[in-house]
Amino acid sequence: MEQPQKATSPRHFITYKFVAYKKTMPDKKCWRCAHVPCKIISNNGEILTLKPFNGKEFTIDIAIFEKELYVLKNDETYVYTPYYPTERIAISEFDIKHLSILNLKKYFEEKDNYILKAIEKAEQDSYHSKGNNSCITFDKYTEYKSNPTTSKLERIGDPIFNRSVRHSPPIYKHFTREEYEQTPSFPAPIGIRYDDFALPSEQNNILRDILNQIFSCKNAPECPKQIIDELGLTIVPNTHTCLWCGNIIDISELNQEYCSKEHSINFCHRIPELGTKRGNVYFGHCSCNREQGGYSELQRIEQIIQLAKCNPEYKEKILKELG
Ligand SMILES: [Zn+2]
Repeated sequence: MEQPQKATSPRHFITYKFVAYKKTMPDKKCWRCAHVPCKIISNNGEILTLKPFNGKEFTIDIAIFEKELYVLKNDETYVYTPYYPTERIAISEFDIKHLSILNLKKYFEEKDNYILKAIEKAEQDSYHSKGNNSCITFDKYTEYKSNPTTSKLERIGDPIFNRSVRHSPPIYKHFTREEYEQTPSFPAPIGIRYDDFALPSEQNNILRDILNQIFSCKNAPECPKQIIDELGLTIVPNTHTCLWCGNIIDISELNQEYCSKEHSINFCHRIPELGTKRGNVYFGHCSCNREQGGYSELQRIEQIIQLAKCNPEYKEKILKELG
């Protein structure tokens, strides 16, 4: 009978599948983000290859591995971590690739520059979180680590990455500066804004939705059938409306570089707080988005109701308009 392999040293016998960094650390010009699940791809007893959920594969020396990482529980379907919504991630999400829109971009490269711009913006917004100038640079981080006697007046570091992928750990709104300063990662970043978070499968669906909307606008160029099939798009020409004003969006307005922002088109959020989630983001008028402001559609309705309640003229006007 075959004898079970003896674990003479944990260095040669790692049976677990998922690990995470205890704190955010720089690795050359790349942050290894705290608490992001990393899949163990290979292990030769000296060097391990890890695939972080939010990044590319990298190798790590076993001594650093044993010092800086901890083990995450998993089963067949999920890896468990309290740092992500619902406290678990479907393992299948690790293998979801970005929708490749290379052919689409190539096709419009020399034809319609404004369409290309809209496509690139859709791609950027679907996959990446917003920027953050307060995030510490690698140089400043190294400087602080070698001499952490910064004046109390100088605010160093920020928990939010300056752009990252949308499936980095989300930072909840109630997370305070004090809590951040107490994390072992400080002053390195530890995540993205909560409203920027989306799983890879959702990100692909968001991009598909926005592309459908772009090509369903008035004056949108035709998208070749081969690309429609390749990306799984559903385009209904001349139907996409701005959800604020109800008008069909004319994409040729994007073509006017000189045109004031009033006429441009942007990504609008029905509930700004919810952020870039499927169904919450759409291709709409910039001016309409500004009118809506930081409020959700429902909050705006409630404001109107409140106004109408204490002003009979408004109430009458609304009832007449809707009746
Ligand atoms: Zn509008």
